Amino acid sequence: MNHNKYIKALIDNKRDVVGFGIIGLILIGLCIYGYISLNSLSIRLNTLSSSTNSLSIRLASTTEELQLAISNASSTLLNAISNENQNVQEQLGGVQSQVGSLSGTLTTLQKLSQTDPELLKKYSKVYFLNENYVPARLSEIPFAYQYSNNKQLLIHTDVLPHLKAMIDTASSSQITFYAFSAYRSFAEQKALKGEYTVNYGAGTANSFSADQGYSEHQLGTALDFISTGQGGVLDGFDNTMAYTWMTNNAYRFGFELSYPKNNGYYVYEPWHWRFVGVKLATYLHDNGLNFYDLDQRTIDNYLVNIWD
Ligand SMILES: [Zn+2]
Repeated sequence: MNHNKYIKALIDNKRDVVGFGIIGLILIGLCIYGYISLNSLSIRLNTLSSSTNSLSIRLASTTEELQLAISNASSTLLNAISNENQNVQEQLGGVQSQVGSLSGTLTTLQKLSQTDPELLKKYSKVYFLNENYVPARLSEIPFAYQYSNNKQLLIHTDVLPHLKAMIDTASSSQITFYAFSAYRSFAEQKALKGEYTVNYGAGTANSFSADQGYSEHQLGTALDFISTGQGGVLDGFDNTMAYTWMTNNAYRFGFELSYPKNNGYYVYEPWHWRFVGVKLATYLHDNGLNFYDLDQRTIDNYLVNIWD
């Protein structure tokens, strides 16, 4: 009985051992499953997090690219607009300068069309004034500027202010001179030459008096000057302070000495000055040149500025 009990107990004991073994195995299995599951979960979590990371990097890079693209596009657009604007402005500038130069040309042409071309012509044996030529406008020289009150002298109206300014300026420096002769008509010049020829003979008269038509006096822009202390004759004007003053200053008022000493075209006439405009007279003075030594084409360039 005892033996049976023992065996029974042993069998019961075995069952327990098997039961415990099974339970143990189940527990171990559960543990392994749990571990594996945890591991896989952590791997998935890792993958998810790295995916999120990569997604956020891609998002960031996409945002950056987008911003760059927008900035590029807007700067390209701005550049294009600014270029276009510049083009338009350049074109506008071109048009404006064309309009400016056109209006300048028109002004020049208008001035030239209103300026008597004879006023800057060189008079010689081959080029002379028509007997009918009369200056466009003549004015009386006030007696205060004339040497003699016996005869009213006339001068080109536009030269008169320059003449008065020159005499007034000299006078303010105690330099005194007067207009002795001014405009002479073709007929007057002819009569004068005839008179000289009768008195001095043709040879002598030719040396100091121009034939009618060759005289600058017919233009109304040439004058003979005389100073005090000359006894009323033109000779000796070059020994006066007035002559020295004129040599240094007449150009500022537009006058030049037509027939200087040792010139190749006419007898020396220190008293005879012609108005050619301030610009040309200054050019002659500054370069030590004589009016009659210049080419007519060079002289003609100054016609438009004669009254400036
Ligand atoms: Zn003269």
